[in-house]
Amino acid sequence: MTDFDAIIVGGGPAGACAGIELAAAGARVLIAEREKFPREKLCGEFISPECLGHFARLGVLERMRDGGGARVSETVFYAPSGRGVSVPSAWFGGGGEALGLSRAEMDARLMARARAAGAVVLEEASLAGVLTDGARVVGVRLHVDGVPLEFRARVTLDATGRHRAVVRRAERELRGAGAAGEGSAEASGRARLVAFKAHLEGARGAPGVCEIYFYPGGYGGLSPVEGGLSNLCFIARARDVRARASDAERVVREVVGRNRRAAHTLEGARACDRWLGVSVESFGRHEPAPFPGLLAVGDAAAFIDPFTGSGMLMALEGGELAASAVSRWLARGTEDFGPLAREYRAAYATRFDARLRLCGLLRRAALAPPALAEAGVLALGASAALRRRLARATRGGGASENHQPDLGL
Ligand SMILES: Cc1cc2nc3c(=O)[nH]c(=O)nc-3n(C[C@H](O)[C@H](O)[C@H](O)COP(=O)(O)OP(=O)(O)OC[C@H]3O[C@@H](n4cnc5c(N)ncnc54)[C@H](O)[C@@H]3O)c2cc1C
Repeated sequence: MTDFDAIIVGGGPAGACAGIELAAAGARVLIAEREKFPREKLCGEFISPECLGHFARLGVLERMRDGGGARVSETVFYAPSGRGVSVPSAWFGGGGEALGLSRAEMDARLMARARAAGAVVLEEASLAGVLTDGARVVGVRLHVDGVPLEFRARVTLDATGRHRAVVRRAERELRGAGAAGEGSAEASGRARLVAFKAHLEGARGAPGVCEIYFYPGGYGGLSPVEGGLSNLCFIARARDVRARASDAERVVREVVGRNRRAAHTLEGARACDRWLGVSVESFGRHEPAPFPGLLAVGDAAAFIDPFTGSGMLMALEGGELAASAVSRWLARGTEDFGPLAREYRAAYATRFDARLRLCGLLRRAALAPPALAEAGVLALGASAALRRRLARATRGGGASENHQPDLGL
């Protein structure tokens, strides 16, 4: 039995960021991560320019620069016909270029920084249960190297991503069997969308450009990453994937390739590592303070639509938001969780609700029938001012330009 101020389950950008901030502020922090880093992760690997400001503040910008990533100066959104509209990375609010770096590299660098800041990091440590005291979460049960161990903390953060492993576990244990995921697509095996990703060589994308393709039932992105490779990540209807025996290469050819630009760019490209695939059950917002003693951060709190390329930014912002609320609460020395839950909920809503609502609307357009997607791209093509405003609004619109560090690659 070991005691911490904060236990963070999940070592992606949200968990690592919260861990760095809390440990740097003097808190005793445990980060429990299921995988061993570095590990590949399904993601578009487009790191929005504003993230660089976060990396600088977390003390990890130099390590990110050393990762050999690619500069991304522009994103071009392609309608199924191949007609494209461009959004320069500078419009996203950071005022600079985006970074193309694999999640294997990025996440390992953040985790190393968390260790250096003083957090205890356990890898290959999987959640086995939550510890409760009455209605309150007071810690977690982990399997570490196959050994069950219990850890207690004043606050636990669920940073396990879209699967919300801690919240679901707490729902089961505090509200009774059957409560977790009740009615969810995952619980009933009805996930409507499936995502795939692999690194490619030989793609014909223009240097420094992220290409987004819309096609019937989904969309995908091709972004340059380190080593001269491109990362292809896409979402397709589960029924279209099943009809192709879940063969990612066939889905690329026959579904993604219905976008004319994708067919051109990907012709002759070859996957140089294994395809990763996951189901995507839902988008949008959950309760950020679901139980006394438990907060949710990153995708565990809200999953923003991947074509915005802003999920990692939200994870970093959310990790910081949670860490600063938790730090203030720890400093007060109180056991009353109510003030922390209220402060975090309010700050979360102010920071994220408007952009999540907007992205919900944009998702409907992105997954609309091809004729509508075509009309949308045409309309956006007519107004640079509108594109710029939308690009900023998917990031909350608040970040000022020209304050982000240069990539210096
Ligand atoms: C198809 C797709 C494309 C995307 N493209 C982009 C993009 O280009 N740019 C962008 O900014 N965002 C993108 N995103 C979103 C981005 O990947 C997420 O928003 C971001 O990873 C969220 O970070 P997180 O730390 O909350 O969760 P995650 O990154 O998911 O990290 C969660 C961590 O928790 C660990 N974990 C899970 N369960 C357990 C458990 N039971 N016990 C212990 N550890 C556990 C996992 O191993 C993982 O390391 C994309 C998402 C998808 C689905």
